[in-house]
Amino acid sequence: MTEELKERTTDEEWLLAEGFDLGALASKAENPLVVEAGEVAQVDPRCYQKCIVAFSGGKDSMALLLHLLELGVPRERIELHHHLVDGREGSTLMDWPVTEGYCEAIAKAFGIALTYSWREGGIEREMTRDGDATAPVFIPDGDGHRKIGGDGPPGTRLKFPQVSADLKVRWCSGASKIDVFARYLNNHPKFEHGRTLVLTGERAEESSARSKYRVFEPHKCDLRNGRKVKRHIDVWRAVHGWSEQEVWDIMKRWKVCAHPSYWLMWSRMSCRQCVFSGKNEWATIRQIAPVEFNRIASYEQQFKVTIHRKLSVVEQADQGVPFPVDPYWVEVANSRTFNHPVFMDPWVLPPGAFRHGCGPT
Ligand code: SF4
Repeated sequence: MTEELKERTTDEEWLLAEGFDLGALASKAENPLVVEAGEVAQVDPRCYQKCIVAFSGGKDSMALLLHLLELGVPRERIELHHHLVDGREGSTLMDWPVTEGYCEAIAKAFGIALTYSWREGGIEREMTRDGDATAPVFIPDGDGHRKIGGDGPPGTRLKFPQVSADLKVRWCSGASKIDVFARYLNNHPKFEHGRTLVLTGERAEESSARSKYRVFEPHKCDLRNGRKVKRHIDVWRAVHGWSEQEVWDIMKRWKVCAHPSYWLMWSRMSCRQCVFSGKNEWATIRQIAPVEFNRIASYEQQFKVTIHRKLSVVEQADQGVPFPVDPYWVEVANSRTFNHPVFMDPWVLPPGAFRHGCGPT
């Protein structure tokens, strides 16, 4: 079935044409599937018109993409969606410079659509809010982006997100990713047609908070029984029960080169200047990204509140030992484009694998 025809047909016609059992699907829609942590979800992603992968560029989101392909989901039904945590207005405070370029290279290599959303000014603007409203977000709209929100009440932060599993305290994830994604799902009309499966890459092994996440459930933006607007959106944490070994195994099967952060010995790929960074990460950041490190240090002085409850980033870096990084990968990680080959043959496990370092909980 062509994309054009899919646009014109209803959900039921499309499912029938794809050979699905409408009765079984209708009963699932009435009694939405919920799969608790530790249970196995019997999910067929091929019965969704859209599979949106929350794609950070890290190994777990890469595993989601590869898993969908191994399950036979046609590439044109998959969308990689990436949140730009620094926004697109010039802030470089938090992220790996290469991440956007890496996501683009992966999407191009696999022939899969890549879309972006972000909060204006990114985490830095939210953090330096001083009597202002939280900034608007930008979501995909046609060939460009549409601005939403920004008219909330004024408020002041003037402090870093604090290290906590509580998302109100560690507000960066909500402000730069979770809320931004919800704005996309709630406001783009394409989600009002057909079924959407959102895939996110949390794994139980990563933290005790994540180990309690459900494997499958209606997404919080789901509105399948809405009166005026209907949106059928499920969320599948498809690698929730996977071990790190299984994640690297699927990368190996597809010969995909991991994000440069893993080649610099980071064990988890997140923001480079993640608030969960440990002493060795801060020592390495000071070495490979001195400008951004000094900006973080000067914000800590300005706010008189450090990221870590007791130590400044300078004190943490002083107590850490920089990773023995390869200058080639420092240059790749500090580039705005990813010019290294996407596929490796023979495939090599990066040195950050299995190191059990720091990252969001
Ligand atoms: S990766 Fe770290 S700094 Fe970035 S949003 Fe998540 S918790 Fe915050």
